[in-house]
Formats: sequence, structure tokens, C-alpha cells
Amino acid sequence: MKLDALAFGAHADDVEMACSGTIIKLGALGYKTGVTTLTRGEMATRGSAKIRAHEFAQSAKIMGLASHNMLDIPDGRIEVSWENKIKIIKEIRAYKPRIVFAPYWVSRHPDHEKASHLVREAAYLSGLKKLKTDQESYRPYKVVYYQTRFGFKPSFIVDISDFHARKIKSILCYKSQFHHKNKAKFGKDETLLSRPEFLDRIETRDKQYGMYIGVKYGEPFLVREAIKIYDPVDFFDAGYLEAIP
Ligand SMILES: [Zn+2]
Repeated sequence: MKLDALAFGAHADDVEMACSGTIIKLGALGYKTGVTTLTRGEMATRGSAKIRAHEFAQSAKIMGLASHNMLDIPDGRIEVSWENKIKIIKEIRAYKPRIVFAPYWVSRHPDHEKASHLVREAAYLSGLKKLKTDQESYRPYKVVYYQTRFGFKPSFIVDISDFHARKIKSILCYKSQFHHKNKAKFGKDETLLSRPEFLDRIETRDKQYGMYIGVKYGEPFLVREAIKIYDPVDFFDAGYLEAIP
């Protein structure tokens, strides 16, 4: 199966919190989308690998994904190793996505930073014919970075206003991560995510980036290269101009 867009996260819930609005929007536009997590989340303070897999499957339904996979790289100790690059190359070659999403390379959790480097390197290496897996070589057109904790000056912002409610639904699938009265089931250890105000922060950030492009909610992205535009008159069309504050 071929995907149009494949988003990689270090952990299940990373993609949802950062950019599931865009993933959901792409699905609504008719593109085939997928999410692959590098780990199974067994080191999470709350929940377990089994619970996380279940929550990820629920969220995949809400996001309308054509594929959702978990690789078996150990959680909390993702390393930029050849072995791990091969695991990601195999995933890229299996789905041949036109674009790949990866976490921004500056983050609070070391796994996110390692995941960023791994995905970028694997996306390039995947195009080398002499690098043998049992698949055809393939290089995605672009690696697009999403934001985790630390901000960046975005290369572009996607209007997710019509999809924000579904984004929140996808995040809430991770019942064990977020504030829950059932402490016996989900653990009493509070984390940044389990505090009741956490969802407000996501809403505030999405509104902030929405404001920059003159819409209700937006998600920011970064690409390393300059963006090539064939026809600037068409690109900066009336819809774009309306968005200028
Ligand atoms: Zn994470």
C-alpha cells in the first residue's frame, strides 16, 4: 500500500498533540495517511505498552489512518544507530510516502531529538539503490518537521480550523496520559500531560498559530530547504491575501 503522507513519532500521542489536525485534514482531502511510532511507549510514567497500543489504535480510527504501526525501538533510549535507520528505511520503502513528518530536532525529550535525526537520515538513505533491504529504493519528496515543546519560526502553517475538534478527540484517546479521576486504573503519578490544564495549552498554541494566518486554528511546520514556488501569483491567491491580518 502506498501512502501520501507518513508521520513518525517517537511515542504514540506525539503526532496527535503536534499535528493530528493536519493529518486528519489530509485524509479529508482524499490522501492516504499513516502514523508510525518508533517505540511502544513502555517507559511512560502512566499507562503501559499494552494500554498505549490500544489507545493508538483508537486514535488511528479518529485520524482516519490507512496504516498505524509501532516499531520496537526501546522507549527512552532511542539511538541514532544503523540498526534503527534500517527499521525506518523499511517503513518508508514499504509505504513510499510523498512526504514524511518528523519531530523538530530540538525538544525536551531526548527520544524526540533522536527520532528527528533518525527519520531525516533514513528518508535520505532510503533512496540509495545499493542500500539493500528486500524492497525497492525510494526517497520521499520532503521531510516536514512538526513542533513538540520548543517553538520554531514556521516555514508554513496549515489551517486546521475545521479539524480541530477531531484533533482533540484523537488526543483524548490517550486516556491513561491525561487527567483522569480513576487513579487506581491509570496511576496516581501526575505528569505535565496529566494536569487538567494541558489541553488548554494545545488549544492556545493552535489558536496562536491560527492567528498568524488569520484563521481560528493552525499547526506550524518547518522544512530545512527553501520552498520552491512555480507560480507566485497563483500561490498567493485571494484566499491567502484574506488571511493577512
Ligand atoms: Zn513523545
